[in-house]
Amino acid sequence: PEEPGAPNQNEDNLRSPICCIMGHVDTGKTKLLDCIRGTNVQEGEAGGITQQIGATYFPAENIRERTKELKADAKLKVPGLLVIDTPGHESFTNLRSRGSGLCDIAILVVDIMHGLEPQTIESLNLLKMRNTEFIVALNKVDRLYGWKVCKNAPIVKAMKQQSKDVQFEFNTRLTQIVTQFKEQGINTELYYKNKEMGKDTFSIVPTSAISGEGIPDMLLLLVQWTQKTMIERLTYSNEVQCTVLEVKVVEGHGTTIDVVLVNGVLHEGDQIVGPIVTTIRALLTPHPMKELRVKGTYLHHKKIKAAQGIKITAQVLSTTCKSVSSFLVSLRIKLRKSIW
Ligand code: GDP
Repeated sequence: PEEPGAPNQNEDNLRSPICCIMGHVDTGKTKLLDCIRGTNVQEGEAGGITQQIGATYFPAENIRERTKELKADAKLKVPGLLVIDTPGHESFTNLRSRGSGLCDIAILVVDIMHGLEPQTIESLNLLKMRNTEFIVALNKVDRLYGWKVCKNAPIVKAMKQQSKDVQFEFNTRLTQIVTQFKEQGINTELYYKNKEMGKDTFSIVPTSAISGEGIPDMLLLLVQWTQKTMIERLTYSNEVQCTVLEVKVVEGHGTTIDVVLVNGVLHEGDQIVGPIVTTIRALLTPHPMKELRVKGTYLHHKKIKAAQGIKITAQVLSTTCKSVSSFLVSLRIKLRKSIW
């Protein structure tokens, strides 16, 4: 249905899940997203965005295309996937914490050559504290000595192409990393052996952000897991739930607020009720598969359904931004339709 009325819990009425990507610096978080988006944010397409929380929307049709080799076509029920990216530098613990607080599921990226590192443990602790589901992307498998590239292939297919030596090295490193997780009180297993996919054992997906092996598996796992276990959470609600990421001036748009719309629908003209009262002048998003933080052209919308990363322009903000920005940024505000 176009407008969510009384939320009925069925599979046709699901919002996009929100997925947060976390892990130690240099494990390949940005590169993994680049690999899915077909962008090059990691090599500086986006100067100076590393101090903000980012958001990229992946429509279901793109996910379907990327996962078609896994023959799971009929199983996509969510409209897409919104991925939240948080700054990796160690001083941004607070932003990582806020980013992870938004998500339904997380990707915890681990470098197969390095195993668990300090920020992996920090991320794990955040995830445990919030009881957030996650999958582990065991990244940089292409760095295993002698790895034979199978571009964008599902991981089982890619693994079959590898020599005995590569498979041996993979298994040795995997076993070490599973043990490291166990030391943190977390059970993990390769996702295709983890049939139960329950809360007790988290799934590991081997990936390469450079040559794309395992990316189809990672996308499919995220979508399947969320739509299988989170129907209630992903059902559209009447109440708009929205979190402010940032307030800033954008050339040609005046003062804007970047938000993540977590649930519900926003319309042009809706009133924001919270620490300030104002009216939404324009609802803007980046193009699908583009990053909210990166300067580019925006799409205008009359209304937007969750989940999405959105740039809002609102009249009153232009004049009172200075006083508003400080508490907007730090507050989780609710946006409501004017007469609610
Ligand atoms: P982030 O700090 O976690 O966002 O890591 P980046 O995405 O910036 O990647 C850090 C470095 O690792 C860059 O030089 C990437 O090119 C490299 N890298 C990332 N993923 C892979 C991978 O799967 N294989 C290889 N060989 N290098 C990778």
